[in-house]
Amino acid sequence: MMSEFIVISLYAVSLIFQISAFYLSYQLFRRAGAYRLPCLFLMLGFLTIALRQMNLLINAIGDSDPNQLDALITLITSSLFVLGIHYLIRAFSSIEIQSDIFEHDAKVDTMTGVFRRQETFNRLQQEISRSFRNRQPLALIMIDIDHFKFVNDRYGHLVGNVVLKNLAISCQQELRNIDILGRVGGEEFLVVLPNTHEDAALAIAERLRIQIQNCVVAQIDNEPIRITISCGVAIFKPESELDLVHPALADKYFQQADLAMYQAKQGGRNQSVVWADSKSV
Ligand code: GH3
Ligand code: MG
Ligand code: MG
Repeated sequence: MMSEFIVISLYAVSLIFQISAFYLSYQLFRRAGAYRLPCLFLMLGFLTIALRQMNLLINAIGDSDPNQLDALITLITSSLFVLGIHYLIRAFSSIEIQSDIFEHDAKVDTMTGVFRRQETFNRLQQEISRSFRNRQPLALIMIDIDHFKFVNDRYGHLVGNVVLKNLAISCQQELRNIDILGRVGGEEFLVVLPNTHEDAALAIAERLRIQIQNCVVAQIDNEPIRITISCGVAIFKPESELDLVHPALADKYFQQADLAMYQAKQGGRNQSVVWADSKSV
């Protein structure tokens, strides 16, 4: 009677462990992505084992000479299943986190927190396609820091890095959620403004320029460091392009914004210029 009670208890606990292993493998299956098939096999395996365990449990009831050793081994095996699948889920979570970090770092510049050059171009291309679909203009603003070499030479490269970071933060604060800000060169940034006409784009470039001019981008020994920027504006108008999603379009409008920015430099810096008509402020 006593041994029957012990065996039934061990089988019952084993069954709970096996159902837990089945449930955990189902959780793994839901998150496994490309590895769903092996997880499905694992899940079905645990389900079958649990069904077999139910049969063993039913048979053990009323058995005058139950197999205690088998019940003990079943309990050990079932608990090992749960432990194994638990650690598999933990390993999977840490791989997921690593791959998220890797993906994030591939897209975002660690120093400034804005998009890297390649990601900025990818998003620009997406916005050009969207602009074709909704027939709305798209504005690009190229930003380059004026005499940045001087900042590095005078205060050092590390202070220069702080300046770059604070410039990115200041610009981001002035932009909408749908706008794109990317670092496309050492001290060059590109802003992409969806659904934005020329007048609005020039106004935004000027707002950014004045905001930067007025803010202290770094401080060293209580000496405030200020910078100015030059902005080049280019407008992508869907009606002026025939080839719908030509990959060179991103390069073309990027170059226009870059040329306009150089015109702003030639015009004396700390100003915004719109490409083509060389309208400067
Ligand atoms: P201009 O007004 O003509 O733009 O003058 P500039 O001195 O800014 O000239 P330029 O744009 O040619 O110089 C860019 C400088 O930016 C040179 C380089 O040392 C510096 N730079 C590029 N990347 C970084 C960076 O990641 N950190 C720091 N601190 N400096 C950088
Ligand atoms: Mg430059
Ligand atoms: Mg510069």
